[in-house]
Amino acid sequence: MAPELIVQRPEGLYCPAGDFHIDPWRPVARAVITHAHADHARRGHGAYLATAVSAGVLRARLGDITLQGLDYGEAVDIQGVKVSLHPAGHVLGSAQVRVEHQGQVWVASGDYFASGHAGDANATCAPFEPVRCDCFITESTFGLPIYRWRPQAEVLAEVNAWWAANAAAGRASLLLGYSFGKAQRLLAGVDASIGPIVVHGAVEPLNEAYRAAGVALPDTLRVEQVTDKALLRRALVVAPPSVLGSPWTRRFGDASDAFASGWMQLRGARRRQGVDRGFVLSDHADWPGLQRAIAATGAGRVIVTHGYEAVMVRWLEEQGLQAGSFATEFGNDDGEAAVAA
Ligand SMILES: [Zn+2]
Ligand SMILES: [Zn+2]
Repeated sequence: MAPELIVQRPEGLYCPAGDFHIDPWRPVARAVITHAHADHARRGHGAYLATAVSAGVLRARLGDITLQGLDYGEAVDIQGVKVSLHPAGHVLGSAQVRVEHQGQVWVASGDYFASGHAGDANATCAPFEPVRCDCFITESTFGLPIYRWRPQAEVLAEVNAWWAANAAAGRASLLLGYSFGKAQRLLAGVDASIGPIVVHGAVEPLNEAYRAAGVALPDTLRVEQVTDKALLRRALVVAPPSVLGSPWTRRFGDASDAFASGWMQLRGARRRQGVDRGFVLSDHADWPGLQRAIAATGAGRVIVTHGYEAVMVRWLEEQGLQAGSFATEFGNDDGEAAVAA
């Protein structure tokens, strides 16, 4: 029987042959990082390996770390194990980790966005690329049949219509989404001719990282830069969900508020958030997207992490695949715990 290339350890996923971890949640000597979301890229590791394009965001979050940056597809040798990073389509610089040793290939997906609709990719980062492998370790954040995303263009058209109607009525449009990834996807997708775009202070440093990486985003204003109250009443305001109910939002008066997240597909989630609108837009694969991505790897064995593991494992077994799960400490970064309960 072929040896296990990646196993579960108390500190995180571990490659015994190469003696490195992938997205570990406890400090380790050598960490391969799939992307810069806080639950995957943590402090305290001795050395980091990640995509070169994610270096800016990683350093902004983690400080002066020892970081080796790789291009997508570029391979390095770690103790005889060939390691390379491949686009995951989730956020800027996000990668799947391909590990090859003694003729065996395993891929750890990290978080990924793959759509069930052909050609529907995340426009703000390198789109998900399936990687052939013997064993695929897949995320499963939205691994239930109820999660089916509509094409992004349809959702973004709804966002634009909502903003335009608010602007016409003289009301600001407060659009809530995770600062890293979701906010930039919204910004890249909206129609900037409708009015000015204002962003929260947590969002703008990430916008700068995206622009530095060559991603086209519309012009954005920090709220402090806007002195004209009339301007604010036509504005789209993009901010993280944590501002809900905080004094920061008071300056926008009777703004209409909306939340953009995959969780908005759940009946009751929008009501629990207490917002006017919910837009179903996720940086993770939906049920058809997961199925499509898993099939494209050609893997005979699949290990499921963070999400609805049991449902996904049962479905995989029904397809005749060898399936199991790893318990991880990854959170869900698609709109945050705000929607728990
Ligand atoms: Zn993530
Ligand atoms: Zn995750």
